[in-house]
Amino acid sequence: MTQVPKDLTHLTVLATFAHPDDEGFGFGGSLAMLAARGARITLVCATNGDVGEISDPSLATPENLHQVRQEELRQAMKVTGVQDVRFLDYRDSGMDGTPDNDHPRSLYQAPPDDVVARLIEIIREVRPNVVFTHDPTGGYGHPDHITVHHRTVQAFEAAGDVLTGDVSDANQSWTPQFLYYVCFPRSTFRTMWERMVELGIEPPFASLEADKIGSPDEAITTTMDMSSYVDTKIASLACHKTQMTPDGPFRQLPEELMQEIMSTEYFTLAVSQGDDAGTDLLAGLA
Ligand SMILES: [Zn+2]
Repeated sequence: MTQVPKDLTHLTVLATFAHPDDEGFGFGGSLAMLAARGARITLVCATNGDVGEISDPSLATPENLHQVRQEELRQAMKVTGVQDVRFLDYRDSGMDGTPDNDHPRSLYQAPPDDVVARLIEIIREVRPNVVFTHDPTGGYGHPDHITVHHRTVQAFEAAGDVLTGDVSDANQSWTPQFLYYVCFPRSTFRTMWERMVELGIEPPFASLEADKIGSPDEAITTTMDMSSYVDTKIASLACHKTQMTPDGPFRQLPEELMQEIMSTEYFTLAVSQGDDAGTDLLAGLA
């Protein structure tokens, strides 16, 4: 018997990520599923991806990359079915110790309270039932991912507080019920590493790192089969053209393997509170 997919028109979703394209690999299928079932979705991207690569010089220059990447994300979300895309407009930071972290507009330099305040404002405006963000490891450890994780957790916790004691503040406060972290399991990195070695592809990370980067598998609470949405996910990811290096190690892996890896998405259910305390919203949608 085929199950009728649940209608989600009552559901409001907020997702926060650091860079344009962070939404795709670990969450693109679930985003497409939520959108297809009618959930209202707001995607917040903290930076414009200014420091990212340019796969083909005809697509962008270092000067206009921030605009090109914003447009790529808007296109990607159009493919996925997400209408509300917002940018906090920070410049991306680099890996630890790089000069990009000194830039005054970088997320790295942004006062934490300012970032949290902006996220609280968005939470209070869109009133999400569920919030998604990076996991505490930041996937592969990018400092911007980790920053967005922390600021989102802080905003999630504080959005329901009455901050000033006045009536309008109390009316605006909003407590989302669910908080999920989007995970990249270590076992997936390990599988990719092994297949790259088998196929003679130079892996972008060492064997030892494959056991350290990503989310510890035991942190994963919720595994979602997103094979029905993997084509949408791949089409959406393809919109991030400036980030697609055709000869990159991940692109060299066999398509069936990448399709298989991308068909499953992993989450940590971090908070489940209010009327549905103790339930796993996502697992219930499978
Ligand atoms: Zn990123």
